[in-house]
Amino acid sequence: MNPVKLAKYVLAGWLPGGHCHCVMCGRRVWRFMPYLRGSTGVPELMRVLGGVGSNPDQFECPRCGAHDRERHLLMYLEKTGLLTDMRDMSVLHFAPEKRLARRIKDHNPAHYVPCDLYPSTQDIQRVDMLEMQFEDQSFDLVIANHVLEHVDDDLRALGEIRRVLKPGGYAILQTPFSAKLHHTWQDPGIDNDAARLQAYGQCDHVRLFGRDIFARFASAGLLSCVRQHDELLPDVDATALGINPDEPLFLFRRPER
Ligand SMILES: [Zn+2]
Repeated sequence: MNPVKLAKYVLAGWLPGGHCHCVMCGRRVWRFMPYLRGSTGVPELMRVLGGVGSNPDQFECPRCGAHDRERHLLMYLEKTGLLTDMRDMSVLHFAPEKRLARRIKDHNPAHYVPCDLYPSTQDIQRVDMLEMQFEDQSFDLVIANHVLEHVDDDLRALGEIRRVLKPGGYAILQTPFSAKLHHTWQDPGIDNDAARLQAYGQCDHVRLFGRDIFARFASAGLLSCVRQHDELLPDVDATALGINPDEPLFLFRRPER
């Protein structure tokens, strides 16, 4: 980390006091650090389409490094009781965030499989979301926090998620989307980093989900149990917690039969 950036993190995270609070590390901080240039770096098209995703101005905790979407998901897991319920669950966690994974493991799931297409450590299993090596109906819960926007064939991935879920099992599928777009937007001609950044909001995204996201996920056989932030967390100070109150909990369920 360069000295200027280091100084900003120290001032934001180590100066006593602070009016912001990180739910992941439990510390008070003065501010959360932006993603790159913050909202001024968001492409104009994303801005006018009202793209909902990470909070680019309050992205990273200067103390523990937790990202806003990780902190928000932890709050959703706690509020819905899913975190406590994991004690009896078999859980498959894609692109496992280090701190969130630790919190999940603290709740002693019956079986916990952290996985990634490109594992960064030995305890993460290599799993291709498009072709999973697991038996049908293996898991009670699948977590993919901001993963589907990177996957080439989301419908095939959703089909695989449904297949490995037990009947009645849940999937948490957080992803950026635009409620203004009627149709999910993906085009093979958008084939380079600059075009993907403008069209989808990030150079490694391969689509921008629209308001058809619920019908799209339903077409893969998943029932929507989506909950809005205001329903689940009506009384929290989103600014002080550095989370995006426009980001719903994308909770889906495999039907019982
Ligand atoms: Zn923190």
